[in-house]
Amino acid sequence: KANRTFHPENTIINIGNQTIGGNQVAIIAGPCSVESREQIVNIAQEVKAAGAGFLRGGAFKPRTSPYSFQGMQQEGLELLKQARAASGLPIVTEIMSIKQLENHHEDIDIIQIGARNMQNFDLLKAAGQINKPILLKRGQSATVEELLMSAEYIMAGGNEKVILCERGIRTFETYTRNTLDLSAVLAIKRLSHLPVIVDPSHAAGLWWMVDSLSKAAVAVGADGLIIEVHQDPSNAKCDGQQSIKPERFTSLMKSLREIARID
Ligand code: PEP
Ligand code: MN
Repeated sequence: KANRTFHPENTIINIGNQTIGGNQVAIIAGPCSVESREQIVNIAQEVKAAGAGFLRGGAFKPRTSPYSFQGMQQEGLELLKQARAASGLPIVTEIMSIKQLENHHEDIDIIQIGARNMQNFDLLKAAGQINKPILLKRGQSATVEELLMSAEYIMAGGNEKVILCERGIRTFETYTRNTLDLSAVLAIKRLSHLPVIVDPSHAAGLWWMVDSLSKAAVAVGADGLIIEVHQDPSNAKCDGQQSIKPERFTSLMKSLREIARID
């Protein structure tokens, strides 16, 4: 179902008055994690003013260490809904389990399945049963073929609203958190009709690379970007080192508009 051979036209996913996969670049921006009402409502207004189309923010966080901040959980989701009401931006957030999916899918505009769950086949099957767009991130060590097969799991259940995301893969390189595989965007677009977006933040793990990698992603034809933005990156509860400040996001949006259509 994800294969372009049987579906030559690009899939366009409609979310409210926004689209992903059409002839414009979708911009999803916001903090790694929801930390407080003030934080998420302010950042929602800031990224909206800069021209983002969607708000991201993690409530359920897949952290490497069980002792790290695990996200505000359900309370975080409530705050995201308040930020959506305040800004008008649809919300993108990760769920990590079938239970979270069942309990919360109605509240979320785009449901993120993270890199670590890309091959959680039971979760993918459950995502296939709901009628909400799924943002499926590439696993850290997954091939393009494996990513497409995971999309297939969701689509086989009847949910064809799948957005793929290249977020960097593990290589021998340690300077960056992951290695951004821009050729994957080209490969996926050749093999599949599904929209593909790029996450330069988790790929690089370094805030100062985010602008240039964003431009590069748009230049190779990505359908969108998901970017971490935080008011005070050095005090962020998660991923501060890869988060850009709202001012920098605003200037990035200006330069992206020179190379792509962003409404
Ligand atoms: C995230 O988007 O905050 C995240 C945890 O991403 P990934 O699953 O790509 O690591
Ligand atoms: Mn993050």
